[in-house]
Amino acid sequence: MAVLPILIHPDPRLKKAAAPVADIGSDLRRLADEMLQTMYDAPGIGLAAPQVGVLQRLLVMDCVKEEGAAPRPMALVNPRVTWTSDETNVYEEGCLSIPEQYAEIERPAEVEVAWTDLDGQAQSERFAGLWATCVQHEIDHLDGKLFIDYLKPLKRQMITRKMVKLKRELARAG
Ligand SMILES: [Zn+2]
Repeated sequence: MAVLPILIHPDPRLKKAAAPVADIGSDLRRLADEMLQTMYDAPGIGLAAPQVGVLQRLLVMDCVKEEGAAPRPMALVNPRVTWTSDETNVYEEGCLSIPEQYAEIERPAEVEVAWTDLDGQAQSERFAGLWATCVQHEIDHLDGKLFIDYLKPLKRQMITRKMVKLKRELARAG
């Protein structure tokens, strides 16, 4: 099973809206498996297909954090938020495409999300806590939106400059 390279911001592919998945077949299931592997390896709790350069509406996540608890790998195809709570929550967010940078972001505390699973079955679930933050962060990726887009321009530009420098260093290290 392959670990996929994760795109680092700034990258034009991270700013584009992803296309709906039309066909749920073995290629998509394989991509979801590889994305989960990549996410666990990073390690992270969520990963959206555009982050590995695939502009399709697919995300994976597993927000189980308790020591010794069973993992809950999820793959959501064409997910959409169908309800949001009025109550909000602030979490310190990070992103595998923006390494080592964190910021407090306010989002609805609970969301209901509808999606198609890898067997083609319609699913929906209400998410709270870290799961709610994570699924909203990942769905944003499918719309070409990053968590730093919620920050004030100055803070966003500072982070972007750091990422440009990091990418230059990574390229040099080859
Ligand atoms: Zn992210």
